[in-house]
This record gives sequence, C-alpha cells and structure tokens, in this order.
Amino acid sequence: MSEFSIATQFVHAGERRAAPLGVPAATPIYATSTFVYERMEDVDRVVEGDVSGFVYSRYGNPTVAALEEAMAEIENGKFAFCFGSGMAALHAALLASELSTGSVVLASQDLYGASLELLKTVFGAFGVRTVTADFSDIENLRLKAQELKPRVFLGETISNPLLKVLDVEKVAEIARKSGAKLIVDNTFATPFLCQPIKSGADFVVHSATKFLGGHADATGGVVVAKEDFDRPALMGALTLAGGVLSAWEAHSILRGLKTLGLRLEKQCRNAERLAEFFLDCPHVEKVIYPGLADDEQAEIAERILRKNYRGAVLGVRLKEDSREYVYRFMNALRLCTRAASVGDIFTGVVHPATATHREMSAAKRARLGITEGLLRISAGIEEVEDIIADIERAFEKPSFEDSFSESETVDFEKKNFSQAV
Ligand code: PLP
Repeated sequence: MSEFSIATQFVHAGERRAAPLGVPAATPIYATSTFVYERMEDVDRVVEGDVSGFVYSRYGNPTVAALEEAMAEIENGKFAFCFGSGMAALHAALLASELSTGSVVLASQDLYGASLELLKTVFGAFGVRTVTADFSDIENLRLKAQELKPRVFLGETISNPLLKVLDVEKVAEIARKSGAKLIVDNTFATPFLCQPIKSGADFVVHSATKFLGGHADATGGVVVAKEDFDRPALMGALTLAGGVLSAWEAHSILRGLKTLGLRLEKQCRNAERLAEFFLDCPHVEKVIYPGLADDEQAEIAERILRKNYRGAVLGVRLKEDSREYVYRFMNALRLCTRAASVGDIFTGVVHPATATHREMSAAKRARLGITEGLLRISAGIEEVEDIIADIERAFEKPSFEDSFSESETVDFEKKNFSQAV
C-alpha cells in the first residue's frame, strides 16, 4: 500500500484480508454491501449459480444466510429467506403465491390487524379479493373453499390477540384439495411449540421481531418454504421488492434463537401461572389461554402444539369494559411494560383495541371479541410472583395517576423484586 498516496491508503489499508485459519465460534456480522473477487470469471460463476458465493447483500449475505439456514432446519423446510420485518416476510410469501387480479385469499378473521390491512389495501389495489372466515369452523371453511376457489389460505398458528389455535392439519388438507397454498404465521407459537410445515403448510412466516429475537432489539421477518420449487418466486419477491434483513439484525436474531427453548420454557410456565391467577381475580370476566375452558380448542391445542405447552401469551377480559379503566390499570403497572410488542424477555401488556386492531372499525372489533376491556399479556422470563404482585397492585390502586412522577419510578431493590427481573 505504501506506493499509494495517503488518501488512497485510507480507503484500502487493512481491507479484504484472506479469511484466517480457524472457524469463528459465532457467526460474524458481515457488515458489507458488496463482495470483491480477484477474477471476473469467478463473479460470473457465482452469479450464474455454478458455485456458491456472495456478490451483493440484497442477493445474499453470509450472516443473513446463517439465520436462513438455521430457520429452514428448525422449521423443517427446504429453504428460508429473511426480510426486514414480519410484514415484509408476509408480503413476500403472498407475492410468491402468484396472486393475480381476481384471485381470492381466504384469510382467518383472527389475523393480526396489519396482516388483514396488507391484504385489503396493498393486494386489494391489484384486484386480489380477501375473504375472511372463522378458521376454527372447519366445515364452513370447506364450503367456503368450494365456493370461492381460493389461491391462498392464511392463518396464524396461535392467533393475535384471541389466541385461537389453528388446526393446521385440517386446514392444510382443505388447501391441498383446493389446489391452494397454505401460509401459516407461526410467530406466536414459534417452532418450539409447532412446526406447521410438518402438518402441510406451504410457507411458514415469522415476525422475528417477536420470540425469535426475543430481546426487543431487532426487527425482522422470515419465510420458510416446504418445497424447493417455490425458491425462484420467493427469491424474486425478496430481491426485487428488496425488503432484505441487515446483517446486524440477522446477528441479533441468530443470537436470540439460541435461547428460544430456554426462554419459552419459562415464558410458557409463567403464562400458565398468570392464567391461574387471573381465573381467581375478581376484576376479570374471562381468561383467554389456548384450550382453557373450551374443549374443542383444547383438543386442537393438544394435537397441534408441543405437549403440555399452550404458549406464552394470554388474553384477559376485564369486567370493567372501558378504555379509560384499562388505560388507568395499564398506567399503574410498574414492572410489566406497555410495549407494543410480544415475545420479549420482559412481560408486556397490550391493549389490542388501540394497538394491534386500531385500524379496524369498533363494530367489527366488537363482533370478533376485541372489546375495550381486552388485554393481551405476553409473559416474560421474570420471577412470576413479581409479575403477579405488580398486577395486583395496579388493580388495587384506587385512583391511578395519568403518568408517574420521578419518585414513583420503580426502584427494584426497594420494591424487593427478585434478581430475575
Ligand atoms: N405477524 C404477527 C402475528 C404479528 O403479531 C406481527 C406484529 O405484531 C407481525 C406479523 C408483523 O411483524 P413485524 O412487526 O415484524 O413486521
């Protein structure tokens, strides 16, 4: 480098060293948009697909590829692609299903609000028709399939926020007989509780922002495919729409993945204990937890989800069905967060009517059961008795403040919360 001027040395010094001996124990963050080659012939061979390699990060990046390989294996798929968010992943899975003007998507009425919006606004603008149905009514779904001849079925393994468990086996059979693709959003169940491809799903979609990452520090999405023949369509949706995942986010999600089993063990046990607590709570009208007090859902949950696991999320319908009361209760929580997400290591409480389903009309929300008094709780990994103490205190506090004063900010040592917080 010394033969060049100092400005040139700034640009090139130290870069592009040969890979060292020894394989890194953890996948490095390949923070590079492009890859350089000694010979143009080699670039050609990589672009042509004759040998594997990387050219440009929108088409592939080693850190992202490591996460894709992990997800394909974990979800029992042939391959996976990562995206910049869960919504980008769902968008790509729908694009790869070759929808065109006049196609019908039969979607679960219990989908996450933005997923329904995506179908209605973005795909609707191109003449794709979305019909919603209650996917727990299998006979009705069969009839709807015969009548509408849908191109795609879309459901969530555990729905957001009403936590209905999808009978993936039966819906996959209906989709197969209709010649349609089944896309399953497995965000709430995660592959720890369910691997929908084993039951016949064509595409599994994740918001990796949630349980896979698990630490509220990365936004991402994944699509896993059952069959290799879907690779070109999905690759096109990724590279042409361009919603790729960055290497930084891929690294965080890959690290989150390593503790997914440990986290979910604890989160599911905490959710069960919270469900028990709420069943006896005088302020609560109904506890929604997969299979609880519903024989049909219990049978499906038993068959579809991991044995003795019902997930880390529960719904709680308060007796006082008003937004004002719910807000005052939520504002009084000091340990549980009011974070607009799910699946993180901390316990989070969401008000679906003004969060996940804010865009839906009040009448439709009421029809689906997303009432003002409904809360969605994502259990974290804290000591569960600390979570319960926080909730009890928030219920007991008679007149809630609008916001906390400095002196009210939680002091974990004074409050005697356990070390696990
Ligand atoms: N799918 C489900 C079930 C979700 O809950 C969400 C987000 O809340 C998404 C998809 C979208 O994920 P992202 O926010 O990563 O785009």
